[in-house]
Amino acid sequence: MSFFQDALAMFKKRDLLFLESYKETEDVYTFLFQKENDLNWKAGQHGLFTITHKKIKNKTRPFTVASAPAEGVVRISTRISEKPSEFKQAMLELKQGMTINMTGPLGSFNPEDNKPSLLIAGGIGITPFRSILKQIELEEKGIKKPMQLLYLDSNKSFIFKDELDAIANHPLISVTYLDSRDGLYQEIDTFTTLNEGDGQYFIAGSKSMVKSISDFLKSNQVPKKNIKKDAFYGY
Ligand SMILES: Cc1cc2nc3c(=O)[nH]c(=O)nc-3n(C[C@H](O)[C@H](O)[C@H](O)COP(=O)(O)OP(=O)(O)OC[C@H]3O[C@@H](n4cnc5c(N)ncnc54)[C@H](O)[C@@H]3O)c2cc1C
Repeated sequence: MSFFQDALAMFKKRDLLFLESYKETEDVYTFLFQKENDLNWKAGQHGLFTITHKKIKNKTRPFTVASAPAEGVVRISTRISEKPSEFKQAMLELKQGMTINMTGPLGSFNPEDNKPSLLIAGGIGITPFRSILKQIELEEKGIKKPMQLLYLDSNKSFIFKDELDAIANHPLISVTYLDSRDGLYQEIDTFTTLNEGDGQYFIAGSKSMVKSISDFLKSNQVPKKNIKKDAFYGY
């Protein structure tokens, strides 16, 4: 998606009807909203979501749309601690019939299917990859090159694990669950050696995690243009 497409998408605003929310784990919640027929996004994109049902100070947050367009629903999955921000407290108070406003979709965090891809998720950074992999599964789209997901979570919570395991039945898709940086760096080395300058790399997670992995890739001669990042600030 070009800068101009993103700039245009900033004017696309719509209210989404809240359907339901539920817990994925102790501190991760999923919120589902109705997808209207004319709303479309590319798997991996995000929106700017604004609270409208009550007055709060910082009422907008970027969130990846964690569902694939083919699922027919808009999904946000997010971590909510014991002391939530005013924004997340307002999300917890959503009831059926209320709406949230979405601007977008925005961004270009989506792999080309003719290059081998390494998808690297840290914790809640799994959201864009759920959308990307789910879309491939639901469209029964034949990808041409291997796609490997490295999913790092030091707490081993691994949300979406059952869904990801099912998607990994695809002959060109693999999923590796990791709980240490050392293990992650080893897997990255294996992929980099195998694919040399050909691989494309996608990193999503906390700002510090994304930066350290991107620095690691660059120090291993991966060209900057082959690295795409979704840094979730606030974690
Ligand atoms: C492209 C993109 C996609 C994202 N997708 C997801 C997702 O799928 N799931 C998810 O849980 N989160 C996602 N995030 C992060 C999300 O927008 C929130 O920042 C995060 O969930 C924390 O929100 P909060 O309300 O708990 O804390 P916040 O109140 O937002 O902030 C917590 C801390 O972050 C700092 N902070 C806030 N805004 C900024 C900023 N702009 N720059 C630097 N520091 C800041 C605050 O000062 C505070 O210290 C995404 C972010 C981006 C940019």
